[in-house]
Amino acid sequence: PPSAEKYEYQAEVSRLMDLIVNSLYSNKEVFLRELISNASDALDKLRFLGVTKPDLLKDAVDLDIRIQTDKDNGIITIIDTGIGMTRQELVDCLGTIAQSGTAKFLKALKDSKDAGGDNNLIGQFGVGFYSAFLVADRVVVSTKSPKSDKQYVWEGEANASSYTIREETDPEKLIPRGTHLTLYLKHDDKGFAHPERIQKLVKNYSQFVSFPIFTWQEKGYTKEVEVDEDPAEANKDNQDQNAEKKKKTKTVVEKYWDWELTNETQPIWLRNPKEVTTEEYNEFYKKTFNEYLDPLASSHFTTEGEVEFRSILYVPAIAPMGKDDLVNPKTKNIRLYVKRVFISDDFDGELFPRYLSFVKGVVDSNDLPLNVSREILQESRIVRIMRKRLVRKAFDMILGISLSENRADYEKFWENFGKYLKLGCLEDRENHKRLAPLLRFFSSQSEDEMISLDEYVENMKPEQKDIYYIATDSVASARNTPFLERLFEKDLEVLYLVDPIDELAVQNLKSYKEKNFVDISKEDLDLGDKNEEEQKVMKEEFGQTCDWIKKRLGDKVASVQISNRLKSSPCVLVSAKFGWSANMERLMKSQTV
Ligand code: ADP
Ligand code: MG
Repeated sequence: PPSAEKYEYQAEVSRLMDLIVNSLYSNKEVFLRELISNASDALDKLRFLGVTKPDLLKDAVDLDIRIQTDKDNGIITIIDTGIGMTRQELVDCLGTIAQSGTAKFLKALKDSKDAGGDNNLIGQFGVGFYSAFLVADRVVVSTKSPKSDKQYVWEGEANASSYTIREETDPEKLIPRGTHLTLYLKHDDKGFAHPERIQKLVKNYSQFVSFPIFTWQEKGYTKEVEVDEDPAEANKDNQDQNAEKKKKTKTVVEKYWDWELTNETQPIWLRNPKEVTTEEYNEFYKKTFNEYLDPLASSHFTTEGEVEFRSILYVPAIAPMGKDDLVNPKTKNIRLYVKRVFISDDFDGELFPRYLSFVKGVVDSNDLPLNVSREILQESRIVRIMRKRLVRKAFDMILGISLSENRADYEKFWENFGKYLKLGCLEDRENHKRLAPLLRFFSSQSEDEMISLDEYVENMKPEQKDIYYIATDSVASARNTPFLERLFEKDLEVLYLVDPIDELAVQNLKSYKEKNFVDISKEDLDLGDKNEEEQKVMKEEFGQTCDWIKKRLGDKVASVQISNRLKSSPCVLVSAKFGWSANMERLMKSQTV
């Protein structure tokens, strides 16, 4: 037989395995969840390919997962009929950390260590394939991809820095397609190979896997069998001369082993929302999106009529890690299914506008073709309707958080995703009406707690026509600007726009409930109290002074004017009505550097 080739793991893999095996012992049983989810992914991939290449599915092998246990020898085998791996894929997938879940785990682990936290992370995170080494000291993966005519065997041991790959030559072990993953359990972990234990774990961890999972279970049926009479009994009977010789029967249990369906395969989104608990929605979310925190909100709905689809949407508890997510979201947040077949999680952009890229969820349509592509999605009228509905539902869900009795919920939301909604004000004119009520700002009358535009409007003076704002870089500098003097005096509330994008958002909205947004740092601020007579007198008295100042400053200012906007400061620099505000100017400068 061809000899096995030896490969070194990528450095991070060794480190991860080390961590898993030596320090993260708190919740070993998650290994099963990880391996089942890999099997399920492999089946998803195959089913998806099968849509365009039906030949792949021709060999009449069912799409399912089977878990075989040998409790005497402490062996568990997880069998799937999915996409399998080629030799190169074995190297790339099982010798390298490229995958999101695992990389994210390492980062979180580091963060938690830096923060002095404990290491109880393994149960919350996907640590992927390597979690096999939590319980096994040897793992053998025998796998056959439809892309290759050969079957390969990957073999690795706990605490080793290398693994081997060889070709499968034993004819008895050849499989048509998929993967057999065998775990040789550590001495102390052999208990996991008990069929009942596995059954319980599958029920616990894999209720949202949409392929059938069978476990190898001992079963029994009862039957009546005739038994020979016990000689002692017979003797006794013989003494009783009248007794007839009776035939005796006995009930026995006949034992045998068979595959037993262990999970429920109906996807959660097909169930009646009335019958699904919040815990179930949260669990589904965490499993599906590899999250470890419960979502902030969820929304499960069905739309009928013109276009039919079902969806569950979620607002995550925290914003994704990484800086450039807002402008260039690289998310895989929406999982698209067509008639329950998973199609892709790469179509978010078609189903949601960029600024809602933080919303996660599943969408299942009966009206799209199975071989749907990005091009088809972009052209499709159905998708346009779906998109509209999804966006509307997302807004309803966010509004729901804002109406929650617990104000902290929305504060949390705003802290994480406020930026996204402000971006929405720039990008989605059509939804201004839905976006505006969701915005929050600090104000001159509420410096610690942000207020909504509705709260602002409610607090407006009877004669007040506009919504006043000042854009600066912090609440402290907003509070100290001389522009506020008169407004303070008149007890008019002023919004403090302290986030760079705030000003752009407000300028795009232009107005809220028919009240215009007015920048109090711009010239000709009209507080509705102009006294023509007084202005005239002032002009006569100070006109020359203005001319003199203008002469001295020359091109540095556009003009020098008398104004009634100040109370105690002698003068202030204002921006031209149609020019950039000082804040914008500062922003633009910082952009070009
Ligand atoms: P992730 O599932 O997050 O990608 P894992 O460490 O769990 O990370 O798995 C790594 C990769 O190994 C998978 O992305 C997949 O390509 C491959 N893989 C693992 N198990 C299987 C399997 N049963 N069948 C086919 N490919 C698999
Ligand atoms: Mg995985």
